[in-house]
Formats: sequence, structure tokens, C-alpha cells
Amino acid sequence: MNLAEEEQKAVIKVMESQMLTLLHGEAVKSFEKDYAKYIGVKHAIGINTGTAALHIAIAALNIGPGDEVIVPPFTFIATASSILHNNAIPVFADIDNKTYTLDPKSVKQKISDKTKALIPVHLAGMVADMSELKDLANDYNLYIIEDACQSIGSKFRGKKVGSLGDIGCFSFYPSKNITTGEGGMITTNDDELAEQCRLLRHHGEPSWYVYNRLGYNYRMTEIQGAIGKVQLKRIDKFIEVRNKNAQYLSDAVSEINGIIPPYIPEYCEPAFNYWIGRIDPEIMGLNKSQFIEQFPKSKVLYPKPLYKTKLFRKKIAYPKGCPWSCPFYGKEIDYNKISLPNVEKVTREIFALDIHPNITRQDLDENIQVMKNLVKK
Ligand SMILES: *Cc1c(COP(=O)(O)O)cnc(C)c1O
Repeated sequence: MNLAEEEQKAVIKVMESQMLTLLHGEAVKSFEKDYAKYIGVKHAIGINTGTAALHIAIAALNIGPGDEVIVPPFTFIATASSILHNNAIPVFADIDNKTYTLDPKSVKQKISDKTKALIPVHLAGMVADMSELKDLANDYNLYIIEDACQSIGSKFRGKKVGSLGDIGCFSFYPSKNITTGEGGMITTNDDELAEQCRLLRHHGEPSWYVYNRLGYNYRMTEIQGAIGKVQLKRIDKFIEVRNKNAQYLSDAVSEINGIIPPYIPEYCEPAFNYWIGRIDPEIMGLNKSQFIEQFPKSKVLYPKPLYKTKLFRKKIAYPKGCPWSCPFYGKEIDYNKISLPNVEKVTREIFALDIHPNITRQDLDENIQVMKNLVKK
């Protein structure tokens, strides 16, 4: 089971202590310490959600009005909305056709004199090409914020994601590799950034009634912290099962003509969060919606690139057109005119299957059988 007796005991211990906030208790601090060690960074800062972690990671880098941040359009909305929450401009670059993560070649074309940062998303356990992206960041003096929410435990050339850029952001939502119900974490090796993130998490308030900058209440609760600490002790086992399930699906699918398993580049040691398959509609004689309709256990993942959603097409964020019509920006961006070929093809061909620890061999076999039958037809 995902949540076991040990998590329950940890929650009861917090309740018995009567200390439910990190301002009074020790559970979040203790989880942060273990998490920093696990990722291999100096600082970990417990946050109430992954979305809030992204929001204040960007704020800590003083990114705001008039600034552009480059993101992939094939991700959960929070990667891009967290930029808008800071009154800055998301600029979409294409994804790689095989890893489905930010394509450095496309990123390079999108860099302007307004660009301040890149947010590569490590998707479903897959890792973005961090060496190419870091080279670009160095050449153009950009920050890197890793959205590692879906890839807790994945490695790039032996180093865990969340330790590779300036700041890493994680989520502990129930679908992620470990969970605290809702929850998030920021990781960094930079002392100053860590201090700013701690300030932003707590009203910009370093001590009672001292307010040093605009902040939020994005604190992780003690109950979340206590669950997280236990979950982290069990993470290697969770990842082992997830990867084994993913391998089982990939092996089976390698014999099915028309369905392509995830590609693993040589730099990446994945901690798979979902198994992502890709259909070849020509060979299968089915398009994606027909495939999904006949395979109810499969997940759509992201049905269209983010720039095709109403939020971006109509630019609905802050009143008076901010951040796009902000005097600090002085440029015009029309998301209706964006067309990125890889992401548009990928969204038409990709689907996801569950591989979490509660999935049984029988569940996997049933899914494999459905895929085999669909190809035969
Ligand atoms: C889960 C997730 C987040 C954050 O989600 P929360 O529900 O706020 O914890 C951010 N980005 C990606 C890519 C995610 O998958």
C-alpha cells in the first residue's frame, strides 16, 4: 500500500504533540533535512503545493513584469501559470520528439533580450537534456528552474533532478512518486535563494511582525511533513516497482506494431511516474481519440499544447491586460500565431498508463491485451 501504518503513526504523533504548523513543530524541518540529502542539495524548503513552489521559485529570482520565461507547452498548467502569477510572460518552445521534454534547439530560437529563465519539465520521470539547456543558460545568462514535480528520484548523469539548475520544484500530490496529499518542496544549493524562498513562503516575515518583502502563506503543514518523511524512507521501493511496471509494459509493447514505448536517452536514469506510449495512427488505422475511446484505462495526458487553451488564446490573467499589456514589456505576443510542430504531433499520438505501486501484474496484462487487440483490428 502507498500509505501504510507508519505514515498513520507519524500523523498521530504530530496530533499528539499539538503542534500542527512548522512555526511550532519539527516535522517539516526534519523532512526538509532528509529531502535535501536525498536530492543532493544544500537546502530544501517545504511548501504547501508544487504550484506554490513554482510561484515563489520565480519570485525568489526577482522575475516579474516585462520578463519572459521559456517553458514547454506540453505540461501541467502550473508550469506556465506560475509565471503569470509573477506578472511575467510565458514563452513556449517546442519539445523534443523522443523525450517529450524541452528541446534546446527550439529554446535557442525563443531567447530574446527579455528572457530571464528557462523552466524545463522532467515529464513523467523522463529528464530534459540538462547539459544542452545549461550551456544555453550560461551563454545567455539565464536562470534554470527545474519543474521536477513528476520526476522525484530521476537522475541526469547520476545526479538527481532538482539539483541541476538554480532551483528545483517538486510536488507531493497523490499521483506523484511520493505523496503528502497536497504538498511541495523547493531545492537549491544557493544560500541567498533559499533564504528568499523561506521569506516568500511566510509573508516575507523573518521574525514576528517584521516584513521584509511581499510574501505569501505557502507553508507546508506538520502533518504533511510527517507523512513526507515516512514516504521518503520508502521511495526507493516505490521507484523500483514503478520502473519494473514500466519495463514490463515496454517489453510487451516492443512486440506490438504501431505502439512505441518511452525512449530513454543515455543521460537519463528515469524514476517513471507514468508510462507514456505513442501510437502510430497510420499503422494502427486509428486516431488518438478512437484509441482512447476503445481503451478506457488509458489516460489522455495533455490533450493540446498549452498555447491553444483559452487562457493563452484570449490572454486572460490580471485586470487591464497585465502581464501582456504591461508598460515594462513593450512587445506584442499572440499565442494564436504559435505553431510548434513536435508538440502538435505528440499531443495527437501520446497516451499514458498507470504504473504506481498499487497496479497489479493482472492490471498490466489486461492493458497489454487491450493494446494487442486494438492493433489486430
Ligand atoms: C503536479 C505538477 C505540478 C504541481 O502540482 P500541485 O498539484 O500544485 O502540487 C507542477 N508541474 C507539473 C509538471 C506537475 O505534474
